[in-house]
Amino acid sequence: MFPIQDPPAGTADRGAGEQAERRMPVLIAEDNPVFQSMLRSMLAKWGYAPLVARDGNEAWRILQSAEAPRLAILDWMMPGANGVELCRRVRAARREPYVYILLLTARKDSQDLVEGMEAGADDYLTKPFNTHELRVRLRAGRRILDLQEELLRTREALRVQATHDDLTGLLNRVTILELLQNETERCARERKPLALLMADFDRFKLVNDTHGHLAGDGVLREASRRMKAALRRYDVSGRYGGEEFLVVLPGCDCRTARTQAERLRAAVSADPFLVAAEPLRVTCSIGVSWRVNPTAAQVDDLIREADLALYMAKDHGRDRVETYDQQD
Ligand SMILES: [Mg+2]
Repeated sequence: MFPIQDPPAGTADRGAGEQAERRMPVLIAEDNPVFQSMLRSMLAKWGYAPLVARDGNEAWRILQSAEAPRLAILDWMMPGANGVELCRRVRAARREPYVYILLLTARKDSQDLVEGMEAGADDYLTKPFNTHELRVRLRAGRRILDLQEELLRTREALRVQATHDDLTGLLNRVTILELLQNETERCARERKPLALLMADFDRFKLVNDTHGHLAGDGVLREASRRMKAALRRYDVSGRYGGEEFLVVLPGCDCRTARTQAERLRAAVSADPFLVAAEPLRVTCSIGVSWRVNPTAAQVDDLIREADLALYMAKDHGRDRVETYDQQD
């Protein structure tokens, strides 16, 4: 007996919306070769990219891989892990993005349905099933996945908004201070040095007063970009206040921190800023504080010392780096 019926005539034409269905990978976990090849060819015809696993263990390997399909059709009865067991494992792993599971089975008892859904299946189809029904159920799954993706994108956008400064794109004050605390604790645990830079643009008020706040914003944006480009991959910068910035340098001793600060200062000051009618030359002063063996309680001291060193740099003529001299 051929267990799957063809859809009624006229339903096979694809609308523009369905073109988006194209090439979405779908895992088919099915041990029966007849079902395997039918599902494979139907899904390919509908524009999905089918990936077939012949037993539960192979399916589990695929589901655990980094590029695992987000839509899965799992046969209930298979060698290795069965479909219900796979549902349980997928849900226990709580991975993101979500995997939408359609369970396939010859069992018709409502108790079975309950067991399958409770194990974490999203939908359930009994064999032999109608092809058209399978198609619309896959589409429903796809809709759920699209919604979830949108939700994740929104959540990520909110996270970025909450942790970053909108003008410069650097971390905001709360986040850079939190990060300084965490990095100080980590360096204390790992017995590594840590340094902190506090940078301030020289006579910045003059830029705002002479050329307007839009030009001032342009300088801050461009200076932040230059600063970020000059940093090492594991250094982190954030906006501390108006035109004051913090840079956390984990693992840096005093000497390296000074070199880094010099590089940063040069990167910011080297070229004029093209944000007003005439090119503006803006320089920055940087204060450096550091600990060979930091402790978690020293965050406030590090900030205070970097601030004092910054004032020293201003005092000594600006556009320069000064280091706070520690007695310990
Ligand atoms: Mg089977």
